[in-house]
Amino acid sequence: MAFDTVIRQGTIVDGSGAARYAADLAIDEGRIVAIGDLGEERGTVEIDAAGLIVSPGFIDVHIHSEVALIEPATPNRYGSVRQGVTTQLLAPDGFGWTHLEGELFRQMWDYTRFATGDAKLGGPWPRAEDYLALFDGTTPANVVPEIPHLPIRLAAMGWDDRPATDAELDLMRELVREWLDAGAVAFNTGLDYQPTAFADTRELIELSKVVVEGGAIYAAHIRYNILGRDAAWRETFEISREAGIPVHISHENVDDISRPLLDEAAGTIDVTFESYMYPAGCTHLAMTLPTWAQAGGTDGVYRRLQDPEIRKQLTEYLQESLTVGEGRPGKLTIAANQSGSHIGRTVAEVAEEQGLPIGEAAMRMLIAEHPYALTIYHRRYGDDVARTIAKETFQHPAMMVASDGIYHGTFSHPRASGCFARAIRMGVRELQAVTLEEAIYKMSGFPATRFHVPHRGFIRTGYAADLVLFDEATIADGATWERPLESPTGIELVMVGGEPVVRRNVPTGALPGKVLRRQDATVSA
Ligand SMILES: [Zn+2]
Repeated sequence: MAFDTVIRQGTIVDGSGAARYAADLAIDEGRIVAIGDLGEERGTVEIDAAGLIVSPGFIDVHIHSEVALIEPATPNRYGSVRQGVTTQLLAPDGFGWTHLEGELFRQMWDYTRFATGDAKLGGPWPRAEDYLALFDGTTPANVVPEIPHLPIRLAAMGWDDRPATDAELDLMRELVREWLDAGAVAFNTGLDYQPTAFADTRELIELSKVVVEGGAIYAAHIRYNILGRDAAWRETFEISREAGIPVHISHENVDDISRPLLDEAAGTIDVTFESYMYPAGCTHLAMTLPTWAQAGGTDGVYRRLQDPEIRKQLTEYLQESLTVGEGRPGKLTIAANQSGSHIGRTVAEVAEEQGLPIGEAAMRMLIAEHPYALTIYHRRYGDDVARTIAKETFQHPAMMVASDGIYHGTFSHPRASGCFARAIRMGVRELQAVTLEEAIYKMSGFPATRFHVPHRGFIRTGYAADLVLFDEATIADGATWERPLESPTGIELVMVGGEPVVRRNVPTGALPGKVLRRQDATVSA
């Protein structure tokens, strides 16, 4: 009797951080069924992995891919899967669209367009399960539900910029429980986004108490804008202490601000974080405004900017905050927007061409591009500092790799198509920050364990055959600031559930991805 597939003579890096070893690997019905010297045993499909690393498929815990994954028209649908990412968590930054109807549904969809693009998935989805049904037989990679704070707060109390009442909190608790029943692995929030920027710490603690009871963790884009980074980390620690919940901080780095916080937390706060390790962020242009001016989401901002007095005040604010120079923020590049104009150029370049002060040019852009404009926020420090930060970040035991990738448009942040391959190229080969085994752990075993992703993240018998075959000497990102959609190199094969989904960068068309639910963790092979 033959196995479905035998992968022969590969070097196994098993996702646990343990040392590599040489072995054959057999797959039956989507699972790993034997690891070792398989000698004369045969597979219906035989794959020669001599000279290649065989690792678990990577797990991305912060990625804006969910619409792109199931939308065949998205040009960069495979940007993440090509790198070996076989499992992707839903609801990064708390984004989501469930439990909303009519105008509120449309407004939330518009608000998150900067992350999802113009794809039309239909909706509304009154229940969590209605949304999760979209991923049935439609996706090359697996998806894992998280509880999206944005639509939950919007459903309970609209765009109001105030703390929740007890009754509204009760309604939010109910929706959180519904997601837990659907197998969500974490509660995810975005505390610089709307309407969640106005959730007070009490709301986060109260919801976290429900979340931890259901066996899930807290994950957050923390409250940078209102509190500042140091206090935002401390608020996360307080939530962990008060609710007794493990916490995970999105898109962070180890530097002079976070290092002492991580040291302080060691042994007392159960905290992890993830990093994409590029010296630039990416979010909507409206994030340049003060938080009070972002209230109400896209429509709220648009209405506010029609008021001449407020517009004048905010134009002055933008002039001050966007002027690039010594001790200032870095340049702002336009990645995607409603009109499709100025893509790939900086706001400063557009202002100069238009003969306008940068504040006025940015203001006109905010109004003209309603409802969405996506921008890349470059850090002001140079490449050397960026590499030093990346090295220390990669070496931190609480750090895992996640891309924060955005998959629409032609000029997105290169992290979407390059993050995982770059982490190996730069972090392992060039900086020698960690060993390949440690890097793979931070991309597979660690996120799987932290987020309770069932039967993924490790090469073990009984585990799903989600695998990446690559050449450790040549694996590299192709995506750059100038050519952000370029494919990586050195990756031979990506498999999901034993089925090839990408072969040498070319999608096979197979869609074996599934919704992986937390309670599946108790179901054996
Ligand atoms: Zn974020």
